[in-house]
Amino acid sequence: MMRALAGKLPDVGTTIFTVMSRRARELDALNLGQGFPDYDIDPRLAELVAAAMAGGHNQYAPMEGLPWLRERIAARLGAVYGLNIDPESAITVTLGATEAIYSAIQAVVAPGDEVIAFDPAYDSYEPAVRLAGGRCIRLPLLQPGFRYDWERVRATVGERTRLVLFNSPHNPACVAASSADLAALAAVTRDREVLVLSDEVYENVVFDGAAHHSVLSHPELAARSFAVFSFGKTLHATGLRVGYCVAPPALTRELRKVHQFNTFSIAHPLQHAIAAYLAERPQWGRELAGFFQAKRDRLRAALASSGFRLPAAQGTYFQLLDYGALCDLGDLDFAERLLTEAGVATIPLSPFYLQPPRLTLVRLCIAKRDSTLDEGAARLNAFAARLRGG
Ligand code: GLN
Repeated sequence: MMRALAGKLPDVGTTIFTVMSRRARELDALNLGQGFPDYDIDPRLAELVAAAMAGGHNQYAPMEGLPWLRERIAARLGAVYGLNIDPESAITVTLGATEAIYSAIQAVVAPGDEVIAFDPAYDSYEPAVRLAGGRCIRLPLLQPGFRYDWERVRATVGERTRLVLFNSPHNPACVAASSADLAALAAVTRDREVLVLSDEVYENVVFDGAAHHSVLSHPELAARSFAVFSFGKTLHATGLRVGYCVAPPALTRELRKVHQFNTFSIAHPLQHAIAAYLAERPQWGRELAGFFQAKRDRLRAALASSGFRLPAAQGTYFQLLDYGALCDLGDLDFAERLLTEAGVATIPLSPFYLQPPRLTLVRLCIAKRDSTLDEGAARLNAFAARLRGG
């Protein structure tokens, strides 16, 4: 093949999310795979989008993001974390969190740099690092419970380390970092020129009364971090593709140098509508933990006697399902059987690893109507009964 046709990511295929959603559509299966709600958005948000377009907000938005929207974001960071963030120099609106992650990585990772990621790592991280010319060092989280091995991180951080990719609440592990984890992250990156990119798109979805520990609330980490958030998750509308990145002015300047040539600016009427919607709801985001916790508990209760094990889910849109007691297939094969025999699409975990360990886990999305969760649980229970019966 011509070298140019091989592209820059010859070993990369289509994301597991797209693959599983496509298969679910083809087979008319229940899609508990890709993380998106199947219920309606608040009609008020739709109304405000229509009003923004009718009101003429249809040309380029400012490159950094609509000032009014960034002010809403800053006000919330003040209310929730007690922070005083300057929206002008420290907040950038991006095309979903994925663009923020991609642009931040392109902004600071140079050829030869090393970037640390924790496996299972969200699938967009490593390709973004490679496209920047960097090398991703993947350190597995420890079982049981997907714990950080901070000693190993300390031993891995070296001269070439430029960035640590952190993610809490963690997709797909469904665990939330503790304040001790943040202290350890600060310690391993201290006194070196190591930056942090913290993917916090599920900041509002932390369960059982626990607090979300943002790098922004840790002053030392905040000074060297990009923190990334998502309105898609907060507003139950993943198709908006509007996210934002909070970073100190020096990092924000570098981020914007890439952002301006990547997406330039984000859909203007959507930014208007989101800002108006948030202005009507100063408490935005705070209802999400209870909302999704009820969904998690509903699904867990419905699967309680299935024979599947349900690892603790501390946050996110997801619940892991451990089929190890019922079946010894690998997770890709098990997800395929669930799809074709039980009519349920899930996300296997091995695509999130450089070297997949022997895990018997698939990820279920809980951001679904109660009736979808009930139907999903019924299909999983019936499949489990078949497995138990041999
Ligand atoms: N964040 C979504 C998930 O984890 C996937 C988004 C995507 O498909 N790019 O399921």
